[in-house]
Amino acid sequence: MSQAPLLQAPLLQARAITHRFPVSKGRNLVAVNDADLDLFAGETLAIVGESGCGKTTLARAVSWLVPPTGGSVHLEGVELGQLTKKELRQARREIQMVFQDPYGSLNPRQPVGSAIAEPLTIHRIGTAQERTDKVAALMESVGLRPDDVSRYPHQFSGGQRQRIAIARAIALEPKIIVADEPVSALDVSVQSQVLNLLSDLKDAHGLTFLFISHDLTVVRHFADRVAVMYLGKIVEEGAVSDVFEHPKHPYTQALIAAAPKIGQGKRTPGSALKGDVPSLLNPPSGCAFHPRCPVAVDRCRTEAPLLKANVACHLLDEGGS
Ligand code: SF4
Repeated sequence: MSQAPLLQAPLLQARAITHRFPVSKGRNLVAVNDADLDLFAGETLAIVGESGCGKTTLARAVSWLVPPTGGSVHLEGVELGQLTKKELRQARREIQMVFQDPYGSLNPRQPVGSAIAEPLTIHRIGTAQERTDKVAALMESVGLRPDDVSRYPHQFSGGQRQRIAIARAIALEPKIIVADEPVSALDVSVQSQVLNLLSDLKDAHGLTFLFISHDLTVVRHFADRVAVMYLGKIVEEGAVSDVFEHPKHPYTQALIAAAPKIGQGKRTPGSALKGDVPSLLNPPSGCAFHPRCPVAVDRCRTEAPLLKANVACHLLDEGGS
């Protein structure tokens, strides 16, 4: 369970989130397995982990974009799974997404002004003139020229297209932005500009971010708290400063050691993660990390550790060494 940074109720609270995809011969792929998440107003919570660990599925499940197959999500105390379709549509206005590929998330045949206005049109907000004015203001707030509303996505650079996607995401003045690898498709030189924009918008609009990334350097600079996922489970969470300075879980330790160091562009020698992430279709028994864990003990092969005191590892459990 998450540790509250402040004495306040979470803006979004997810409990026991599980997401199964049916695959052939009656088998299920468990992309997310019994994950709890608390998101507090005004913070940026990052979910990190290697590709295929379930972080995108978890983010889509807690934002109800793809409702989970198990568990509950409360947004400002209201359980999303209990809402009618109409109530859910209203509630989901508060959670907007920014995806990795801005080109893929924009209709190539739709002028960008129309794309930004679309959420307002769908929710019948304002008159046509008010929507036009709002789009111009949104374009400006993300650093684009309002005069460019009639241009098409392909006429913009990758960074500009992500700015358009961000303008569209904030059009409904949501409380939460779920940003799924929002800069990983961009040139490194553009990444920091887009991150700075997100940071400025967060301050200006009082936004809360759920930030999905495999890039620990970005997470370290952008997030307040971090949840580390491995094969569908959260294995460690805490304040970014604690987790990065004093990682406790062997997977977190390996992940941080394997990440390029700022200003060095290289990894700690000999510390890179060994082997590949196992298949979610056939996860290892016990602790799913045990085949790659340098300090695994017998118990790890048969018994899955629970998340206790923000870490899921037998060695850090009561009675562990
Ligand atoms: Fe390693 Fe065992 Fe801890 Fe899993 S439970 S991380 S295998 S020591």
